[in-house]
Amino acid sequence: MEKKASGPSPQELERMAPEKRQKYLEGRMSEIITYAYERAPAVKERFDKAGVKPSDIRTVKDLEKIPLLRKDDLIALQKANPPFGGYLAVPMDSLERIYQSPGPIYDPQRKRGFGMGAGMSSDFGKGQIVMNTWSYHITPAGLGVDQTLRNLGFTVVPTGTGNTELQVQIMHDLKVHGFVGTPSFLKIIIDKAEEMGYDFKKDFNLKWAMVGGEMGGEPLRKLFQEKYGIFCMGGDNYATADIGTIATGCEKQAGMHVSCDAIVEIVDPATGKQLTPGEVGEVVVTPFDEVYPLIRFGTGDLACFVEEPCGCGRTTPRVPKIMGRSGEAVRVRGMFVHPKQSDEVISRFPEISRYQLVVVRPQHRDEMVLKVELVDETVDKEKLKTALDKDFRDVCKVRFDRVEFVAKGIIAEGAKRIVDERKY
Ligand SMILES: [Zn+2]
Repeated sequence: MEKKASGPSPQELERMAPEKRQKYLEGRMSEIITYAYERAPAVKERFDKAGVKPSDIRTVKDLEKIPLLRKDDLIALQKANPPFGGYLAVPMDSLERIYQSPGPIYDPQRKRGFGMGAGMSSDFGKGQIVMNTWSYHITPAGLGVDQTLRNLGFTVVPTGTGNTELQVQIMHDLKVHGFVGTPSFLKIIIDKAEEMGYDFKKDFNLKWAMVGGEMGGEPLRKLFQEKYGIFCMGGDNYATADIGTIATGCEKQAGMHVSCDAIVEIVDPATGKQLTPGEVGEVVVTPFDEVYPLIRFGTGDLACFVEEPCGCGRTTPRVPKIMGRSGEAVRVRGMFVHPKQSDEVISRFPEISRYQLVVVRPQHRDEMVLKVELVDETVDKEKLKTALDKDFRDVCKVRFDRVEFVAKGIIAEGAKRIVDERKY
């Protein structure tokens, strides 16, 4: 299963014509599926139960024949058949590391690691000191990133989280160039440094940060760049403990490019059917991983694909952002609406104090009613409605049916933002 020497390099793969890449990736997909079927008993069992043979899976579309593997399934499988639930495709004694993540779930170390983001590929590397603040214990993030950084030629200072004063000292004394970790932790370090009397921009050498692992890191990223001149690479990095890297940001900061080391699908979580670009659904991943081949692993994360070419030159599909967990979203006339999306729309209207989106289904058609409470009743309601309609359609890709202005206090504080009242 070693990648063939004659195959395209990762850089070539990311930039080739999409149809050509698709063919290549489908070839690798077929290989990993045949391999997994032969070596991982749980894969064989799952395929046999669904009446699917590896030879039936030739194209990405064919993957729809395979039922999704959800985290809960994996937890149950591991419980019944510890430690890996029949998904390990190599001998147990060949594993270098085993991680545990919440669930509890055990993950063997695999070859495909935690990518550092596409923006990292050329201008960075040897001779630079990087602080890796991901935890080195139990979960794969710290060690996985450590390995990737060292492979790229960086000198790594493994610091983990906590001990903020010590982190400030290390960052200062070693003239650290790069930071890897969550945006909120970098903020804590900067605040601490300033509290200790440093002028962060002048006294420190921090040039770039690869921050991720948190939703909504955008405002902090902006602050790091604008106030401290720290280049934040590639926006978010999207990785999970079970899969490793799924998508990475690029230097254009225009969303995250999907990994070429896996097949990534966006599907309707209810049916497992693939959705078209722009439609929001669950991210499902089939990593090309000969250690732990989770075929069609449903991450539970919601996102959509953007296929327009990116200014960075990569032609791989992008995921603008992770929109939340599929359990919190409501599907309305075929489109998912997540509270994060409706929040985004409403946040543009300071004249609205509270809102609630109610989904009903009279006459077998989904209807969405947007209830809003106003800060000031005298605003031009017609104008507001029109603006809301436009922004809602832009962000959620589906229209609401009507707006209801309700009196203050009708929507309880902390009430669910999307309520599904449909009866079938
Ligand atoms: Zn790009």
